[in-house]
Amino acid sequence: MTIYDLHSHSNFSDGVLPPCDVVARAKLRGVDVLALTDHDSVAGLDAASDAAAEHGMTLIPGVEISVTWEKFLVHILGLNVDRSNAIFLQGLAKLQVIREQRAQLMAQRLEKHGVRNALAGALKYAPNGLVTRRHFALHMVELGLAPTLPKIFERYLRPSKPGYVSTVWATLDDTVRWINAAGGVAVIAHPHRYDMSATSRRRFAEQFAALGGVGIEVVCGGCGQDAVQSNAALAERFGLLASAGSDFHDPNSSWTELGKLEPLPANVYPIWSHERFYTK
Ligand code: AMP
Ligand code: MN
Ligand code: MN
Ligand code: MN
Repeated sequence: MTIYDLHSHSNFSDGVLPPCDVVARAKLRGVDVLALTDHDSVAGLDAASDAAAEHGMTLIPGVEISVTWEKFLVHILGLNVDRSNAIFLQGLAKLQVIREQRAQLMAQRLEKHGVRNALAGALKYAPNGLVTRRHFALHMVELGLAPTLPKIFERYLRPSKPGYVSTVWATLDDTVRWINAAGGVAVIAHPHRYDMSATSRRRFAEQFAALGGVGIEVVCGGCGQDAVQSNAALAERFGLLASAGSDFHDPNSSWTELGKLEPLPANVYPIWSHERFYTK
């Protein structure tokens, strides 16, 4: 049986390990097919592909795109994308500019709330220059502002908290278009995690499918049976193919370990059955 893990992060976004170590760890953990899906960047994929070739593993080139849909921040994965496609790369470049501007604004706000050296501190944890809220949170834990990352998010980095900068990311329409232009498949990431009503979640999945999105994560790292079932119900209802990914960031977070995933439920079809999933 082939083991798939189609959602992971390296230190080219907010993961801890460099791409080659993510791949090596996936190999050790028994993964056969790994997607590296850094936030809004494909810069880690060359190193990941080289490492996968050395280990005799299949690396699916991927990305996790930040999207503003209605009033919500949602994440769309692009799997098996051609990372030289100009339309796709221009889209990501826009998001990287938005990210940099947001990081500067966040730093100013956080400094007003007692976070010393906010931007430099976050950058210390972001060796490849792409700054996420997680990097600010790591710096803030180091400063002793709260003991854990979730507590920092709760107190400072969530909507309506002092360090939150409301940001307009990519549209759902553009995101699916960029991924399709790059020959990939678009997949809704961790649908159960969005703080939206069941009605909004269905409308979101329906619009995504109508725009040409093809998949939805049904099994995620650390998600319970309730989430798997509600995700599978969305897949069935809107004809989406099911994906499975740990959302690995950090070897010290055991609930999102590489390859630690339940099998897909029987009532869904796997994303790896899609013709655009593999060969290119
Ligand atoms: P950003 O894309 O810059 O808004 O950063 C979001 C990232 O922060 C996510 O991809 C997660 O890795 C991380 N994150 C979000 N919420 C939490 C939380 N409550 N606790 C820990 N990490 C979080
Ligand atoms: Mn992340
Ligand atoms: Mn995500
Ligand atoms: Mn992720």
